[in-house]
Amino acid sequence: MNKQKVDEIFRRLSANDPAPRTELSYTNDFTLLVAIVLSAQATDVGVNKATPALFAIADTPQKMLKLGEDELKYYIKTIGLFNSKAKNIIALSQKLITEFSGKIPGTRDLLITLPGVGRKTANVWLNCARGKPTIAVDTHVFRVANRLGLCTTKTADATEIALEKIISEKWKLHAHHWLILHGRYICKARAPLCEKCILSDLCKYYGATGDIPRSR
Ligand code: SF4
Repeated sequence: MNKQKVDEIFRRLSANDPAPRTELSYTNDFTLLVAIVLSAQATDVGVNKATPALFAIADTPQKMLKLGEDELKYYIKTIGLFNSKAKNIIALSQKLITEFSGKIPGTRDLLITLPGVGRKTANVWLNCARGKPTIAVDTHVFRVANRLGLCTTKTADATEIALEKIISEKWKLHAHHWLILHGRYICKARAPLCEKCILSDLCKYYGATGDIPRSR
């Protein structure tokens, strides 16, 4: 896809929603990280239902450790993979205290040393907490970017590299939020709302078929 077309896609997404934000609820740097860890393979809505009660009593690594793994599981038991997520959140709280003075490290290389924190989680945290122009690739970003023709990739890492290259600096801060929200509400996996899509005339998949794409 040429640069002009890419810029037009993000110009329209920007005009439609100038300041997109994560839909996860959080109260500080630590609770943002916990919310992102909990959101893996779960919906933001589901995470937001569970976290207010949890964050009211455990909004620091110290308080999370004091709460303990079994109690934590009680609070997050409605979220998928809650057993392994509870284990990771307790372990990452411990590591934050022993190695980072209880603060969240501000680089991706250090963030991914924390239990349960991969590249995508680190990218989301850096973007939301520190305003870094990182592009976090989740299932929505992967699907929308490939359907539009921003890239032709098979993995999240390859998608991140391709999007880093093709998206102008001026769009990077909000790019992944725009693509996530577009995927969540318009370019849905099974039944994309192409007739409502503000990008349909620029979309590779829609342009190729003139019809609703198959899910991928
Ligand atoms: S036209 Fe359809 S497939 Fe293309 S981005 Fe829009 S909703 Fe997705």
